[in-house]
Amino acid sequence: MTDRQVRGSVVNGYLKYVEKTWGKDGYEYCCQKARVSDIKVRDGQQYPHDMLLSIIHWISDNHGMARVKQAGKHTIQNLGLLAYVVRFTNMDTMLKKTKNLYPDVYSFGEVNMIQTDRGATLIMKDVSQIPEDCVGWEGAFEGMLELTRTKGKVVKTKCRFNGDPQCEYEITWK
Ligand SMILES: [Zn+2]
Repeated sequence: MTDRQVRGSVVNGYLKYVEKTWGKDGYEYCCQKARVSDIKVRDGQQYPHDMLLSIIHWISDNHGMARVKQAGKHTIQNLGLLAYVVRFTNMDTMLKKTKNLYPDVYSFGEVNMIQTDRGATLIMKDVSQIPEDCVGWEGAFEGMLELTRTKGKVVKTKCRFNGDPQCEYEITWK
């Protein structure tokens, strides 16, 4: 297996979306599947990233990819630290924060950002481990646009699951 780790805050973000959307039953079913039934997931602690992938798999297998995107959006919008800072800021600052906070939340991968005339390109190296992850990130970036009340759009332009060396997202809002 891998030693990839992720903060509990992200795991909890996805679990909260599951509970909100499919109730206690869905939540318990998902926790069983992801083997987190007996664990109290704490925001600040680190957990195997595979745990998060199991939750994401449960969502896509049972409810489809569109729900994964919504879960990603919901998670970013309720991620305490980020959401707090971000409600009062703009996309440039928000994306820089994301880039800077990423290594604190994930023990693997790398996020880089290039500013463009119309917004920014986000370059995610070794971040997504399954195609569903990419969709979750797409949702997360859309969530950031909403959080900052910015009109714009997110387009996935490269993907490691399509043979590219890394995943890239073009976010335009200018
Ligand atoms: Zn991808």
